[in-house]
Amino acid sequence: MTTQTYRIKGMHCASCATIIEKTFKKVPGVHLAEVNYGTEKVKLNIDETKTSPENLSKKIEPLGYSLVTQNAESMGMNEDEHAAHLGLNRSKKEKLAELAEMKSKVISAIPLAVFSIFVMVWEIGAKFNLFLEIPYFWEEFFHHLSPIMAAYMLFVVGRPYLLGFYRFLRYGKANMDTLIGIGTLTAFLYSFTITAFEETLKPFINVEQSYYEVTIIVIAFISLGKYLETRSKLKTGDAIEKLLNLQAKTALVERDGKELEVPIGEVVHGDLIIVKPGSSIPVDGVITEGASFVDESMISGEPMPVSKKIGDSVVAGTINTSGSFTFRVTKVGSETLLAKIIKMVEDAQGSKAPIQALADKISGVFVPIVLVLSFVSLGLWLLVGTGYLGFSQALSFGLVSFVGILVIACPCALGLATPTAIIVGVGKGAREGILIKDAGTLEKLHKVNVVVVDKTGTLTYGKPELVSIQNFSQGQTLGILERSDLELVAILASLENKSEHPIAHAIVSSAKGKNINLFSVQTFEAIKGKGVKGTILNVEYYAGNTKLIKDLNIPFYTTSIEKETMEGKTPVILAIRERVLGVVMVADAVKPEAIEAVKNLHKLGIKVVMLTGDNKNTAEFIAKQVGIDEVVAEVMPEDKLNKIKELQAEGKIVAMAGDGVNDAPALAGADVGIAMATGTDVAIESAGITLLHGDISKLVKAIKLSKITMTGIKQNLFWAFFYNVVGIPLAGGLFYPIFGILLSPVFAGFAMAMSSVSVVGNSLRLKTKKL
Ligand code: ADP
Ligand code: MG
Repeated sequence: MTTQTYRIKGMHCASCATIIEKTFKKVPGVHLAEVNYGTEKVKLNIDETKTSPENLSKKIEPLGYSLVTQNAESMGMNEDEHAAHLGLNRSKKEKLAELAEMKSKVISAIPLAVFSIFVMVWEIGAKFNLFLEIPYFWEEFFHHLSPIMAAYMLFVVGRPYLLGFYRFLRYGKANMDTLIGIGTLTAFLYSFTITAFEETLKPFINVEQSYYEVTIIVIAFISLGKYLETRSKLKTGDAIEKLLNLQAKTALVERDGKELEVPIGEVVHGDLIIVKPGSSIPVDGVITEGASFVDESMISGEPMPVSKKIGDSVVAGTINTSGSFTFRVTKVGSETLLAKIIKMVEDAQGSKAPIQALADKISGVFVPIVLVLSFVSLGLWLLVGTGYLGFSQALSFGLVSFVGILVIACPCALGLATPTAIIVGVGKGAREGILIKDAGTLEKLHKVNVVVVDKTGTLTYGKPELVSIQNFSQGQTLGILERSDLELVAILASLENKSEHPIAHAIVSSAKGKNINLFSVQTFEAIKGKGVKGTILNVEYYAGNTKLIKDLNIPFYTTSIEKETMEGKTPVILAIRERVLGVVMVADAVKPEAIEAVKNLHKLGIKVVMLTGDNKNTAEFIAKQVGIDEVVAEVMPEDKLNKIKELQAEGKIVAMAGDGVNDAPALAGADVGIAMATGTDVAIESAGITLLHGDISKLVKAIKLSKITMTGIKQNLFWAFFYNVVGIPLAGGLFYPIFGILLSPVFAGFAMAMSSVSVVGNSLRLKTKKL
């Protein structure tokens, strides 16, 4: 019983999503059904013993929808397969076909609509003596042409809307198509009745007034609107397509000493891949020969090519510049970083933002309410209007308002408001190396007012260097424990060789640089937040910070390290159980971007707190350099979470940026967890946001992105609501008694079409905003 994502075909508006969701939820065995109109996907969690995707598809097929049952989870190895499995290329092709069909309908509809508008304008103009009367001959001709044109519009171009009406009669499910269907059909049937029984009806109603042009123009506008909307919607999702295109189709593999070009699906772990200048890297791996600069901008957003030499990782989708090299394959297919990024972007684009809940709720009940309103309006016109205007005129206005309400009150724009902006926002982020896990995270990020950062790797490079050695073992009567400086480094490096901490790397690489041979270590243990311990040649050694030494009750005077810690250096104390042997100092340089980034965070009104397990003096020195507001030093990993909880208890919305390894609990506990991925092996599932090759200036960009996206969503929602709130009473004729305005259904159709187009257009505009 896993959660899977499927594509849905045939959705036309937000209320379709509600209909499908409700239908699925009624089926026994369905635990979760979440339909997203923006991505046209459903997230399903079903009990396979009770139902199946095929079965569910059958349930919605009579309603005009279907489920694409090939699921989107499992990913193949080659690019086409990979895309197909993601449900991307295929759906894109289908969408393009759908778009082409819509286009041909629009092309046939527009001339008819233009002609109708022309005649309409002429008639109105003539009424006000602006133009000459339409000659009798032509008037008769138009009179007979209109029903034919309207019939074509209604039954050919407007078929989906009629089907919507049919489904409403048959299954009682109404969506936007239903509203348009009822509206345009009513206008048509009323007009047709007049045409057919002109003489008989003459005494009762105004037979001069027909509404064929309403049917023609409304359907034309709405089809045009739908076409433009679909076309733009396709554009909102192009970030994924761009990522997919980064995937090379073939790889140059070295087999039995020969170079062989093979399809990407045939590359396996351990293969040696040759990368020529200018070519793209097909899978993930580690360089075994050669060196080059690799352009990783497509993945990390960093414009500068990155230097790569033996032992460095390379990832699929990046492009080699001028050198050439060979690398050993470590990851293929869905394991590659690129595949994970694509999956993450896709999932995030398909997820629902909390802000959408309201729009969903409204569009769910909108259609039935509007249906009722339209009848109420018709009834009121007849009841109240007849007294003032006479039956004939009241019926005519009532009909106009009835059709107008049905046409204008489509919740389409409401349904598009949030998802289109999220799709653009998430895609824009991905291009900058900002990977967002879900819409909820993107939404929350804009409210953040405290950012908690880790020191090592976030504010500093995370690549400390060994800068000095103090030897306390000399001149003591210690016998075998009397060590030279180099021996101290050798012992330290041997221990640290087993540790993953950045400090450990510093010591090991310094030893390697001095060509020091390492000892073999018999037992080893990492002491979280403090250091390490291990035995070499039967002597037990400890290496770590002052806390470690204090805990062990080993005598040590911190005065000996005070000066250097005040300068931002971190002490690593080497000791045996009884005494300290020496102290090495490591220093990690501050990233210049960090200073700028903290300034920018301040500009956004955000407080920056630094949390570190490092020495207090060291931490404060770095904090002052970077401009941090508050420093919490010498904390144990578990206390990092407590500090975050403390801030949250003060009512702060906290984002925590860390390396994601020993900061995992804190990242998870923060309102928004931000993993700073420095390596290429990224645990992108662990945090709400992952910054690729990140320095914290990217965090500033992420927050700006969130703000921009949320503003976009709010604008969209405002316009969608505003337009319905104003449009419905206007179409209903509420303002007629006061201002004498009654919205013609023709304008209702135009407004309705434009509202969706403008919402999608506004979302697309977010693409061009600078971060
Ligand atoms: P941070 O990520 O903020 O440095 P950690 O909990 O990873 O926090 O480490 C806290 C402190 O413990 C380090 O600053 C260092 O002084 C000490 N420490 C941790 N691991 C080691 C190690 N392998 N070697 C030496 N010191 C270590
Ligand atoms: Mg750490």
